[in-house]
Amino acid sequence: MEAPDARRQDARPGSVEAVWAGIEVCRRCDLWRCGNGVAGEGPAHARLMFVGEQPGDQEEQAKRPFIGPSGKILDKALQEAGVPRSETFVTNAVKHFKHLPRGKRRLHKTPDAGEVVACRWWLDAERRIIRPRVIVALGATAALSVFGKATPIGRFRQQALQLPDQAQGVVTYHPSYLLRVPDAEAKRRAYAMFVDDLRFAWKLAT
Ligand code: SF4
Repeated sequence: MEAPDARRQDARPGSVEAVWAGIEVCRRCDLWRCGNGVAGEGPAHARLMFVGEQPGDQEEQAKRPFIGPSGKILDKALQEAGVPRSETFVTNAVKHFKHLPRGKRRLHKTPDAGEVVACRWWLDAERRIIRPRVIVALGATAALSVFGKATPIGRFRQQALQLPDQAQGVVTYHPSYLLRVPDAEAKRRAYAMFVDDLRFAWKLAT
């Protein structure tokens, strides 16, 4: 693995392309060892930004955010909520895929608070570049990164939370949580709330 270029790590990125280039050489935490970094994608100055936790197995390989199972749920819910994904910017709190190798599989591992803080450098850069009106934190890790503190979803969903950069923050579930809810009725309810939250955020942004 080649040595990182310290200048590229410390220069404040001024474009999405610079963020992509920066995470390729980033050594702010040890997760650079986990494969490709995945930054955000979407139109410059999108009104709505989604922040997930970290890329998954498929996202790491394709170098695109939210294209795996969670991305498919997000796409379906966005469609039901009347939110065009092509008009939103989609990214993650942590840009590398933290995982445990298990044979041929790679099992997701939740990033720790130190990794979330380290990678906030890149999320903050994306926030400065895109300047969205509304930022939706998908799940607890994203909420920790976006708000800088634990922000329980059950207590704060369906609220517009003021952020220091003039954007409004919204919290909702991570789509992967919807995949894990074991009971069919509870899953249906959680999904309906998720769609409601996306609709709420879009209304706030437009
Ligand atoms: Fe850098 Fe973030 Fe990757 Fe850590 S997870 S190495 S902070 S890009």
